[in-house]
Amino acid sequence: MQITEHVYSTHIEEDPNTFGAMHPGGTQIYFVGDPTKEMVMIDSGENYRHWTQQIIKYHAELGSPVISTIFITHGHGDHIGGLDRLQEYFGCAVRCHPKLAPFLAHKLDSSPDEPTVQKLKSNEIIQISGETTLKAIFTPGHEEDHVVYHLKQDRVLFSGDTILGNSTGSVRNLNQYISSLRKMLTLKPEIICPGHGNTVSNATNRIQFYLHHRLQRESQILTAVKEGSVTVGQIVDTVYPRNLRKNLRAAAARNVETHLSKLVEENIIHKTDSTYSPI
Ligand SMILES: [Zn+2]
Repeated sequence: MQITEHVYSTHIEEDPNTFGAMHPGGTQIYFVGDPTKEMVMIDSGENYRHWTQQIIKYHAELGSPVISTIFITHGHGDHIGGLDRLQEYFGCAVRCHPKLAPFLAHKLDSSPDEPTVQKLKSNEIIQISGETTLKAIFTPGHEEDHVVYHLKQDRVLFSGDTILGNSTGSVRNLNQYISSLRKMLTLKPEIICPGHGNTVSNATNRIQFYLHHRLQRESQILTAVKEGSVTVGQIVDTVYPRNLRKNLRAAAARNVETHLSKLVEENIIHKTDSTYSPI
């Protein structure tokens, strides 16, 4: 599917009833550039053989352009799975956050003399083909090695798991996450191409919604604690919808824990063993 002049995507559906289906709206793998010349890819999906096969088939449908680089948004298994197969198939470079580079270099047998895996610099601008460039912006929060990529020419932001198409994602460090969202807002993108779910056409609104959502969630959690919820499980039951899918509950609990550590750090609530109380 073509999204903008320079952005193409293959959408991988995930059956909610099978193992590993964690992502509402499936996963998108992006090809960026000029299909008649040279392109790059963003992420490599899960390590399932049929995912890799779908990506290779889509590359053929695009006319088998040269793939110069695979850019990685972060080191979670659903973004770097199949990377060894795809890197070998395309014979391309892999670019990622410096914190992820040693792991990927080991995974791909990248040699120091001719490194396949190359560290990005913060705010590095990389030429893709012709005038087309991608800017790599370090956006910790969902994970500390997270990078989003800005395609200024098309006003597109590849958001990895920092912003999702059909849901809100999990956060490891909330303070970092909020400043990453603010950084993304300053880019004024029109379209967000997320790692999972549908493309978002009102990009700025979505980023503002995410910021608002986090602050609102924090106040809900604080209210729950003040009203007598003492464990993470009780807070999840109070704050999240009752019909929350089982496989999303663990992510919800992690989110609650992230908020709680921020509130503990800020001396707003108190933690004893695994129970919480207002100060
Ligand atoms: Zn993901």
